Amino acid sequence: MTARIIDGKAFAANLRARVATHAAAFAAAAGRPAGLAVVLVGEDAASSVYVRSKGKATREAGMASFEHRLSTDVSQDDLIARVEQLNADPAVDGILVQLPLPKHLDSDAVLLTIDPDKDVDGFHPVNAGRLATGLPGMVPCTPYGCLLLLRDVLGDLSGMDAVVVGRSNIVGKPMAALLTAESCTVTIAHSRTRDLADHVRRADIVVAAVGRANFVPGDWIKPGATVIDVGINRTDAGLVGDVDFASAKEVAGAITPVPGGVGPMTIACLLRNTLVAAYRRAGIAFDD
Ligand code: NDP
Repeated sequence: MTARIIDGKAFAANLRARVATHAAAFAAAAGRPAGLAVVLVGEDAASSVYVRSKGKATREAGMASFEHRLSTDVSQDDLIARVEQLNADPAVDGILVQLPLPKHLDSDAVLLTIDPDKDVDGFHPVNAGRLATGLPGMVPCTPYGCLLLLRDVLGDLSGMDAVVVGRSNIVGKPMAALLTAESCTVTIAHSRTRDLADHVRRADIVVAAVGRANFVPGDWIKPGATVIDVGINRTDAGLVGDVDFASAKEVAGAITPVPGGVGPMTIACLLRNTLVAAYRRAGIAFDD
């Protein structure tokens, strides 16, 4: 039996439509639209494309988009001053600094400058701490998108064995924190993990965030498991994930494709985070 293919594109379109409905209600209640500021330093082609599509998605959801393009040689002080200006701007609910930054800039210092309540990427250590301790905060977009897909496929995740392959601050660690909060039994695997295949074979839920094309083969997957593939790898054969989709889909119960799985969820969750930030800042209850 082949796996259910999880349609992240359709799920994300739905989520964006719900965000747009709430964004209209927010604008009516607050007398202004929710606003997302994106800071782009330099001319990196991929980053430019991401920033453009984030701006477009923000406007389509009925929110205000503020794009701040700074030259490649901007100084650390000037970049930090720009972030501080956005922290103080009442029209800005969310701030995102597009990474990676040019080498002469200290991205940790820049991220630390963002007001945690406007940190819609959820990368500030205050938000990582809130997530780890169960306080309301900003949750990183990609792992939150994975969680929404898992809940949709599986319903209650309580008691399930989950393996997260990858321990980055952006994906692996927050994913593990979210699954722990859902009462999964979570294993975090990484490059030093011994017998990775054995860990993955026990898992009801596998989240792969490694950054290596087709890294997880189908014969590591427990029959019926749900597989979430975060990887985006450019190969001669086009974009592929971290899971070998062709073999894994023959064993898994459900699996995300690449592209069209996790990817579209990330921007949808960014819009949702911006809205959540706007509601919290305005002191209006947000009931999703
Ligand atoms: P990082 O490079 O920051 O982290 C990769 C992780 O994989 C590390 O923890 C590393 O372990 C682990 N790893 C590397 N090699 C192995 C191995 N042989 N065995 C087990 N673990 C290994 O990547 P990110 O977390 O930022 O991204 C992961 C993937 O997800 C990338 O393909 C990226 O493009 C994609 N991505 C997709 C997004 C989306 O919107 N869909 C958003 C963000 C990322 P160690 O810590 O020991 O080095």
